[in-house]
This record gives sequence, structure tokens and C-alpha cells, in this order.
Amino acid sequence: MNQPGRTLIATLALALALAAAVPATPVTAPDPASEDNWLADLTRRAFDDPDGMLAELQRRWPTQAEPGQPREAAWLLARGRVLLAAGQLEAADAVAVQLMGRPDGVDRSWLLRALAQERAGKPGGALAARALGGLDARCPTGDEMRAVRELGCDFRSAWEALRIIQRDQASQGELVASEASTRRGLALARAGGDKYLVVQSLGLLATVLQAQEHGDAARAELHAAEVEAQGDPLAGARVRNAQAVVERRANDIGAARSALEGALLLAEQAGALHFAAMMRSNLVDAYMHQGQLKEALAVGQKALPVLQRFHDRYFERLLHHNLAVAHIKLHQFDTARQELAKVGEFGIDPAALAQRARELRELGDTWAEAGQYKEALAAFAGERDLNARANERNRASALEELRRKYDSAAKQRDLDLLARDGQLKDQQLENQKLAQQVGIAVGALLLLSLGLIAVTLLRMRRAQARLTANQSLLRAQSERDPLTDLSNRRHFLAVMEQRSQEADAESRAEGFHGALMMIDIDHFKNVNDWHGHAAGDAVIVEVARRIRAAVRDTDLVVRWGGEEFLVFAPELPGSDLAQMAERILRGIGVEPIPTSEGPLRVTVSIGFASFPLGGSAGPGLRLHWEQAVNWADMVLYKAKAEGRNRAVGITAVDAPDADLLASLLQDFDAACLNGQVRLKLLLGPA
Ligand code: GH3
Ligand code: MG
Ligand code: MG
Repeated sequence: MNQPGRTLIATLALALALAAAVPATPVTAPDPASEDNWLADLTRRAFDDPDGMLAELQRRWPTQAEPGQPREAAWLLARGRVLLAAGQLEAADAVAVQLMGRPDGVDRSWLLRALAQERAGKPGGALAARALGGLDARCPTGDEMRAVRELGCDFRSAWEALRIIQRDQASQGELVASEASTRRGLALARAGGDKYLVVQSLGLLATVLQAQEHGDAARAELHAAEVEAQGDPLAGARVRNAQAVVERRANDIGAARSALEGALLLAEQAGALHFAAMMRSNLVDAYMHQGQLKEALAVGQKALPVLQRFHDRYFERLLHHNLAVAHIKLHQFDTARQELAKVGEFGIDPAALAQRARELRELGDTWAEAGQYKEALAAFAGERDLNARANERNRASALEELRRKYDSAAKQRDLDLLARDGQLKDQQLENQKLAQQVGIAVGALLLLSLGLIAVTLLRMRRAQARLTANQSLLRAQSERDPLTDLSNRRHFLAVMEQRSQEADAESRAEGFHGALMMIDIDHFKNVNDWHGHAAGDAVIVEVARRIRAAVRDTDLVVRWGGEEFLVFAPELPGSDLAQMAERILRGIGVEPIPTSEGPLRVTVSIGFASFPLGGSAGPGLRLHWEQAVNWADMVLYKAKAEGRNRAVGITAVDAPDADLLASLLQDFDAACLNGQVRLKLLLGPA
């Protein structure tokens, strides 16, 4: 598809995604569900009437939403969203800070920040994912009805987070993931009975289906959306806008234009000024591509003051760009330069480099068509520069993310080991005390009369026996994890030591041999946060039991850290290892874990590898066991980064020598991308 087309799709998609108003009569109701409905409605109306809704919110603010009261977080989120709609970004940020300080406000605070990012025209997916991470605990996937009715799932917040995530995914070309997020949002909207969200979800679903070239499926969803939207002009306008995105993707500009005109008509009918201005802004592009330049300028001029009034910086900037393109086409170069100067005033957001680069390409093409080669070359040079910066930025942030995760996990492990060391020291102290008792007894023996000798001897023997028993208990205990009764890291270390001593004794120098599997519970922090530490402990114990049940008796299962486990299988071929990973994924993820707080569904992520590594690294390369653990760890973090509830294993590695092998770990992502490291992916139960 040509560049201008992509820009249009991006703006159409944004228009589709942003919130909008739905006319309804506000009713303050005593029960939280209908109060939530009212707040949702008010938030939607705020998109086209922010000041009115801000006043309304202030007027109705109930005592139940005063600081520290149970409804505070819900009302604060609504206020934050209305402030965003009013363009009061700093005030909205202050609300996000307030929310962060409330135990039930943390996820909403992340959501509000994600919305603020989006409002500023930046990708909000990472922040939205944080919000969803917390909300997930009460909104388990696949059981949305129960989530909404019984678990108290804040389905609207989860829906909103999913919408932001799906948009980011789609803009990064992750269409399958985007479709999954959209479908999950749809299920939540249906479970919550929110028709307006259902319509929006169906519209989004249609666009993401069309992006995957499933035209018929896309149209079927649009039809379903239209049926749902009947009687609600604004919902209807949204469906038309979705239709415009679909038509544009199918390269039918005429159909896209009439859909946008339909959307505009309905938006005006609904009194939705802001949404109407967005539709006009999109129409500029559509008219331009049909050669109707005068119409494009007229509709753009009409949209501009409204966008300015609503502080809609994203659409305003884009409109200036579109107007500049139209003026160049009309050979009104001075006016075009004025519009471009206005675009420049908005600066370049580092998170939106790729989009800006696409715009520069469109500009370059247009200048060239108009015979203005100097300007065209400048625009193309700018595009190249931005693309280079965008690529660098994507790479740097992916690496940073991986490094951050790796560091924090390593820190947690050191802490666990320190704690274990503390316990050992306590027991050593106890031993010293016992030894002292023996000494005192000996002293007493000298002083006391012969009559006491028998008694004292007896005491001495008992103390001695306790000392010996304690010492072997100490050894056994120091290598066992008290909570799960699994071996701990210390034991694993001892086993590794012993194996290398044996190898030395037999003059074998073969390096680490066997299979390793690193397992980490997904989003475990949420279990603690939502259900308490006792439930968290119960989950750890049961996960440990299920791992044990999935492996052979001869395999060593180690509690490696807080909610992290290591399986060491001394003799296991690669194919059996993948099966073992599969058994563990299913063994843990299929059946919810019973706890005192009710059954909880828990999934894990797994990294696994068999040593010596397959591929050209092969048997020639010896790895120390610590390096082997690092490899397993690295693939675990890959499994995490790619979405959790999955296992990633190493099937082959190409590296001629040990140095090169080590360097692959330094830039693991690149090594996977260029095929030096080949991986196997197993998905957990849905
Ligand atoms: P991820 O999917 O990225 O692994 O997310 P996560 O929440 O599981 O990861 P994170 O490492 O942030 O959180 C692990 C938490 O496990 C933090 C710590 O408080 C908790 N934890 C560690 N040991 C125990 C324990 O013995 N009992 C309980 N209840 N919690 C523990
Ligand atoms: Mg962890
Ligand atoms: Mg974890």
C-alpha cells in the first residue's frame, strides 16, 4: 500500500479507538454497578463536552468517594479521564499520582497514564500492559462471565487497557496478538453488558481482520456492529468509521470516503463535535486522494478550530500536515510552508518516529510530483534519519527491557541466598551453645563429687548426641527448602561440585552434561497482592508438587528462588525434554490451584536447554554448569518477554569457539534473529 494510505489508516484507526460521547441521562444510583455505568457514560460524554462533564462530576461527587472511602478510586479514574478529555494533562497526572497511593487504585493509575500517553499521540501499550497485569487477577481470560459477576473484575478498565494494547500491537504488525486482545475485550464488553463497548470491539475486530486480509470476516463483524449500534447515532458513527478503515485497507477510497461522510453525519446528529472534527480531519486525506483538493481544504479548515478547542494535539498536528500536502498539490507553496512550520512547532516525539517518517515520505513524494526537488530531497533525507533513529530506539528498548528483567531476577536470588545464610548462621550459633554446654559439663565434672559423676556423664552424652544429630540435620536442612520440601540452590551447587569432582577423578573434562529447565510462575506478584501471602505460599507449594509429578524420580527439582524452579535431568534427550516442558505447562496451567481464597488459575513460563548444546557449538564446546544455567535463564526471559504461559527451548547454537558462544548471550535477541541460536516454542494451555 502507498505511504499516504498508511497515514490515513493510522489516523482512521486512532479516530476509531479514541473514546467518544454517548448521550444518556445521568442518574446517580446507590449501587456500584449502576454508578459505574453512570461514570462510564459521563466519561464518554466528556469526549465531546469535557467542561460540562467536569462540572457534573464535581456536583455529584458523593461522600462514598471522599479520600479513603471505598468508591474513591472509581471516581478518581473518571475525573482523570475527563481532565484528559479537557486537555488538562497536568491535573490528570496529579490524579494518577493520587490513584497510585490507593491500594485499589494502582492499576487504574497505570491505565490513566496509558490514556495520557495515547492522548499525547504516543504509544501507551507498555503502561496499559502494566494496568492489565494487575487487573488480570480478577479478570481471568476465558471465563469473563464469572469474572464480571463473581470475581469483581473491573471489566471497563481491562477493556480500555486491552484496546490500547491491541492498537499498539496492530501498529507494530503483531496482528494475531492484536486480534486476540480485541477478542478478549469483546468478551469482557459482552460479559459486562456494555453495548457501546461491544460496538467498539466489533469495529476494532473488523479492522484487525481486514489487516490480515480476511475481508469477508471483517464485513461480517461490521454488520454485527451495525445491528448492535441501532438507535444510537454515536455508536453508528463509530461503526461507519471502522468501515472506513476497512474500505481504505481494501484500497477502495471511494467507499472509505462515503463511510466517513456517513460517520460525520451521524456524529453531528449526536452532537459529538470532537468526533465530528476527527472525521473531517480524516476526510481531508480521503478527498485529497480522490483529487478533490478544494473540498479537502474546506473540510480541514472547518475541523481545525474544533481540534484546537479540544486540545487534540494529535489530530491538530496531523491536520496541518495534511493541509500542507494539499497546498503543495495546489502549488500554493508558501501556504504549504506555513502549514509545515506549524507541524514543526509540535516537535518530534521519540516514540512516534516511525509515523513521522511515513509523513515525511508522503511530503517528499508530493514535493517531487510538484517539481520541487530541493524540498523533496530534504524531506527524504529527514525520513531516512528518522527511520534510522526509530530502528535504533526499538533495538535499544528491547535490550534494555531484557537486561532490566535479568538484573532484578538475579538480585532476588542473591537476597534469597542471603536469607538462607542467615538461617545457617543461627543454627551454627545454636551448635556453639551446645558445645559450650559440653565444656561447662566437663568443668563441673572436675568440681563435683564422685556421686554426681554418673549424672553428669549422662548429661554430657546427651548433649554430645544432640550436637551430632543437629549437625547432620543442619546439613540436610540447609540443602532443603522448608516451604516446598524441594532441594534448594545450595543442594544443587553441592551436586554440581560433586559431579565435577567425579569427572576430575576419572580425568574426564566434558563440561556440564544434562538438561536444564528454568520455570517461573507468571505474574505471581498479583497472587500475593490480590489474595495475600498465605495464598501465594499455597500456590508455590502446589506448583512445586505439580512440577515434581511431571518429572521422573531421578530428576532433581530445585526451588531456585522465590517463585522460580530449576529442573535438572541428568540423562534426557532433547525431544523428551520438550515433552516434559509440555507436561509442566499443562500440569500447572489446566487445573486451577485450590487456596483458602478460592481456586486460582496460575501459569508458568519455562526456558529449557540440553547440554552439550545442539548445532555446530556441539559436543566440542564445554560449558561450566553456571553458564548452562545462564542459557536456560536467558530463554526463560525470552518466554516471559514474548507473552508468558509458554516454554522456549534451545534446539541448536552455531558458535565455533567458547568466546563466540559467550558473546551470543550478550546480544541474545540478535543471535536468535540471525539464526545463530535456534529456538523451539511451546504454548501453554489457553
Ligand atoms: P513475571 O511473570 O514477570 O515472573 O511476574 P512475577 O510477578 O511473577 O515476578 P516478580 O519477580 O516481580 O514477583 C515475584 C514475587 O514473588 C515477588 C515476591 O514478593 C514473591 N515471593 C517470593 N518468594 C515468595 C514466597 O515464598 N511466598 C510468597 N507468598 N511470595 C513470594
Ligand atoms: Mg521471578
Ligand atoms: Mg514470576
